[in-house]
Amino acid sequence: MAQTLNNRQIADVFDTIADMLQLKGEIIHRILAYRRVAETIRELPRDLRALAAEDKLNEIDGVGKVLAEKISELLETGELRFYHELAQEIPPGLVEVLRVNGVGPKKAMLFYKELGIASIPALEAAAQAGKLRNLSGMGSKSEAKILESITALARRTNRVRLDTAWAAAEKLLRPLLQLPGVIQGDIAGSVRRGKSTIGDIDLLIASYQPLPIMEAFVHHPDVTRILGQGETKSSVELENGLQCDLRVVPPERYGTALSYFTGSKDHNTRLRERARDRGLSLNEWAFTPLEGGAEVLCASEPEVYAQLGLPWIPPELREDRGEIDLAAQGILPRLIEIKDIRADLHMHTTWSDGKLSVRDMAWIARERGLSYIVISDHSQSLGVANGLSVERLRAQREEIRAVDAEFAPSLRVFQGVEMEIRADGSLDYGDDVLEWLDVVIASLHSGLRQPREQVTARLLNAIRNPHVDIIGHPRGQMIPDREPADLDMDAVFGAAREHDTALEINASPYRLDLDDAHARRAAEMGIKIAVNTDSHNGDGFTALRYGIMTARRAGLRPEEVINTWSVESFLAWLRQ
Ligand SMILES: [Zn+2]
Ligand SMILES: [Zn+2]
Repeated sequence: MAQTLNNRQIADVFDTIADMLQLKGEIIHRILAYRRVAETIRELPRDLRALAAEDKLNEIDGVGKVLAEKISELLETGELRFYHELAQEIPPGLVEVLRVNGVGPKKAMLFYKELGIASIPALEAAAQAGKLRNLSGMGSKSEAKILESITALARRTNRVRLDTAWAAAEKLLRPLLQLPGVIQGDIAGSVRRGKSTIGDIDLLIASYQPLPIMEAFVHHPDVTRILGQGETKSSVELENGLQCDLRVVPPERYGTALSYFTGSKDHNTRLRERARDRGLSLNEWAFTPLEGGAEVLCASEPEVYAQLGLPWIPPELREDRGEIDLAAQGILPRLIEIKDIRADLHMHTTWSDGKLSVRDMAWIARERGLSYIVISDHSQSLGVANGLSVERLRAQREEIRAVDAEFAPSLRVFQGVEMEIRADGSLDYGDDVLEWLDVVIASLHSGLRQPREQVTARLLNAIRNPHVDIIGHPRGQMIPDREPADLDMDAVFGAAREHDTALEINASPYRLDLDDAHARRAAEMGIKIAVNTDSHNGDGFTALRYGIMTARRAGLRPEEVINTWSVESFLAWLRQ
């Protein structure tokens, strides 16, 4: 039997097809159809296999009959005839050449036809040998530019984590906000939308005096290369290869610009369509009446949305996943906020691999305004993390009870554990131990690459155990490098709902697991969600903002997240 492809692999095939069609000079609509479906599949909270089995492939947004057949063919055979036919004309290696800045489909085909170039290394070699400059439409200048782009590409291959981008963005923006003539400024783009990985940073400032701001920006000590410096836009590269664009706009246009540069692209497209229906064209500067007339300027984002007959939409929702319809109907969810959070249910201390004592963690938690916490150190078989034997678990209980007595009633401290789901599927403590722990989190840390049936069965075994309250970082992904385990999420969600086991959004920016799409689907099924920081030190608590952004991207309301509950409600749920 052919190897079964997962969602991500199928999305990659469609993306490559879009690239190949682009190289062929196909019409843009056809290219976009593949591009969009690749993106949809990549973020789909359900398995294509499961959808195919239910005959529901064509219910996926943007998937018609033709694409549904192609997905089925890929699922059944692991191959796609259409792809192989295309590959006869356009070598798949050629698509990577398109990633080089300044090389569009026309040039890529020119290099291929004239010089047989079908990869970036081949392109680099040809440029170094001076072979490109004599081709039609090329010159030594454009040849040098291509070499430069290839070097830049090598530096910035991967996307960075949200926290890395956020910290870099704040560090760049903060000094600019102190400059004279600056009225306001924001981080825009995917950082503002809280995506788990970031491709580049967008900053926006309102001012009538852009030049000194641009000057300060490009000379920030973190800047390693100036990519461009202008009056309205400047671009720089940071040491880690991250690109950062700053735009300075007049204050009366700030709202339009902020909405435009926050994105997403798809959300903006929908806003433009809505504007057109109202006889307006919309770009980053203003609304302009289609029939002619004066521009409509918006100094703030709510004004932009009001112009479209909509309430302001939180940035985390701006992904064209139905938020505009909800807004139009006045039924946008009241999204969870940091201030709704009363508890953190997952953290480590010096009893396992944490850096601080139980008392220190309690003290910091109280300072941060929490009203209850769960200490959840690692269990015995996680030797690398100094996991707790049953005896040490009992000894820890004494200490936690003492700290609880000291901090109550302003902060309650409970004893939990982050229990290993062992590679053989068994749990790390027997029921005789689990029953006296206040809270049990079960997590996968090993055997994440096991086949789907095996790794899913392990997780299901934990979910079904009546003592297990929460599944920690359910899919086991690490950002940006480690793919999630190949879990049957339909089965996981089904069991979690049946057994009332909560699933975690682990707020660590290395995890953000569940991701937004899965958390949304879980909550829609009525599964309880926990947003926990998994802190290993005092700084760890600051990760809460990333978990909350992920929860907001999932459209979660406060009541759907158990960390917002009163301690009484939480204890009542545990007792059930
Ligand atoms: Zn863990
Ligand atoms: Zn942990």
